Amino acid sequence: MSSNAKPFLVIFILLVFGLLNAQILERPKCGFPPEHEDSARNWGYGYSDLLEDIELWQQSPFVSIDSIGSTVQGRAVWELIISENPSSDFYKRIYIHARTHPGEEESFWVADEIINYLIADTQEAAFIRSNTIFHIVPMHNPDGVELGYARENANGLDIESGWDDSILQPEVVALQNRFIELSFAPNPIKVALNMHSAYACKRYFVYHHENGTSDYFTDLEKQFISGVQFYYPDGFEDWNYYISWTNSTPDQYPESWWWFNYAEDVLALTYEDMNCSSAGNFDRTAEALIRGSLDFVGINIAKVENDVVVPDKFILNHNYPNPFNPSTSIDIELKKSSHVRLSISDLNGKEVRVITDQFLSQGINSFHWDSKDSRGRNVPAGVYFYQAKSNSIIQSKKMVLLK
Ligand SMILES: [Zn+2]
Repeated sequence: MSSNAKPFLVIFILLVFGLLNAQILERPKCGFPPEHEDSARNWGYGYSDLLEDIELWQQSPFVSIDSIGSTVQGRAVWELIISENPSSDFYKRIYIHARTHPGEEESFWVADEIINYLIADTQEAAFIRSNTIFHIVPMHNPDGVELGYARENANGLDIESGWDDSILQPEVVALQNRFIELSFAPNPIKVALNMHSAYACKRYFVYHHENGTSDYFTDLEKQFISGVQFYYPDGFEDWNYYISWTNSTPDQYPESWWWFNYAEDVLALTYEDMNCSSAGNFDRTAEALIRGSLDFVGINIAKVENDVVVPDKFILNHNYPNPFNPSTSIDIELKKSSHVRLSISDLNGKEVRVITDQFLSQGINSFHWDSKDSRGRNVPAGVYFYQAKSNSIIQSKKMVLLK
């Protein structure tokens, strides 16, 4: 070797080492195609199984199901909406999609348990349904499932990447359009979970480094991931188990799309369930994901007692100040968490405003009335009644608005 070649050799070695190093830091999500022997049987859960489950889920009064788009082979991409009031403008909105990679069927089983938890006849579920709108796509890539592909759709493309392509795959279009549509709601998506199941025998989130996001966003990620882990401490890995986007923001993933379009407004994360023979505890995993998400969006179900909903006494306290101008506070004290409707009526008994109409926690719940009607207009001075109704019990009191 001539002495002239040495610098090039050094540069070459550094370059190769650098590439290898970058690849280690920026390895693709979901690792390698999962190894399963029963891919011919759709890994045990195919599109017809989904259609059967849809029939069952549809029987719940809290579930509505619709197609958000069509696949390459013309199958519907189904989305469940689970809520007491899907058209609410203030319920918190959470979006979950699973099984983009058909072979990662564990992500379906987790999504399935999330659905079971949310539609259950429990006080927790009722409380959640009265405060949230959950959107769940249990099978994002049904063609791939039916064709027995580990990662691809019917065009042979991995639809987990290519979210930045100039020509998008129909399954990607379906989700993107839905996300965009919901971004115009008064209560847009706050948390978007992309459910997978990687090669690893671990439960973890793909954490995005501040070099590819922002310092504030990584704080949100840590808060969210640790919040989920809190409900299943020995089940989930720490937030820093899998750090990605260490060099920059990749373009191709769903979370890239979220970041470029909505940045810190949406906590978009990939969750990876265990992909090994010891995978399981999908119900406990689901509960942790739900509870962590609720904490993150500011809904506290810790106070909801795990017992039967019974009509029970509540105390409607006097408003304060009274008389008032322009606003006053009204406290409702609940012995048990229950559904409460608090409304304001004028002297003629005409309802002018609904203050709340949802499940409330046990204890004191405080509300304000700003002397505006339901259309945001100031009401005239005078006597008004505030009425609280919970189950079959109604209480009302009088107050005076001065001008
Ligand atoms: Zn995957």
